[in-house]
Amino acid sequence: MNQNSFIIKKSVFSEGKTKKIYLTNDPFKIIVHHKDNLTALNGLKKIFLLDKGILNNEITTLIFRFLHSSGIKTHFIQKINNREQLCHKVQIIPLEFVIRNVVTGSLSNRLGIKEEKIIPNGIIEIFYKNDTLEDPLINDNHAVFLGIISYEELNYIYSIVKNINNLLKIYFLNKNIILVDFKIEFGRSHKNEILLSDEISPDTCRFWDKKTMKKLDKDLFRLESQKKDKIFDSYMEVLKRLNQE
Ligand code: UDP
Repeated sequence: MNQNSFIIKKSVFSEGKTKKIYLTNDPFKIIVHHKDNLTALNGLKKIFLLDKGILNNEITTLIFRFLHSSGIKTHFIQKINNREQLCHKVQIIPLEFVIRNVVTGSLSNRLGIKEEKIIPNGIIEIFYKNDTLEDPLINDNHAVFLGIISYEELNYIYSIVKNINNLLKIYFLNKNIILVDFKIEFGRSHKNEILLSDEISPDTCRFWDKKTMKKLDKDLFRLESQKKDKIFDSYMEVLKRLNQE
């Protein structure tokens, strides 16, 4: 019998805007529970979107399984029910790695470059995860100065990030989705191994339909304040395409 069959859910370890983390009887494993909240602007904008947690749990599972099968080390172990995954317990490195393949949003304003310009090799940005400071954009020197990470670890993560981006760009293109940009996070396991953690979903990515260029992600809520049905249907569309061969 699989040793994960003996996992018992214990107390809540932490609760964020869209996920709850539970401890388990195994000190090195946690359960990630996807909630139905949709938030933006550091939580200032918030709605309840019934069953969004079910969609994101499934979408993240499919993406993490694909990355695992492509040789990327992740915290993901297995999906255990429609809202929850069993994962390796990690200490999250408080940095958000944002990879941009197409110019949009703040990048367009910051660099004075027109929206929709393709960025051939992608641009990686790092943001310091700190709600009080509103997650500022920082560089390697800042991150090392903050004592969050070493240059060696950063270089290691950059190489994985590029690899993940190359894999996902093609993975989504095969589903007729343009991976415009996305955010990922990493954590350190008890063995001090760096693992891709958190989630990859329409909450954390910009997905544009390849044919119509229509948005299929959280920007429908964040920027366009679309109706709940429209947002749900777009997340559902992403899931449907991921399930297509
Ligand atoms: N992102 C995210 N969580 C955050 C900030 C960004 O998942 O806390 C994702 C977002 O979904 C998008 C990418 O990272 O795919 C870039 O987002 P950002 O807010 O930097 O966009 P901007 O409007 O500044 O271009």
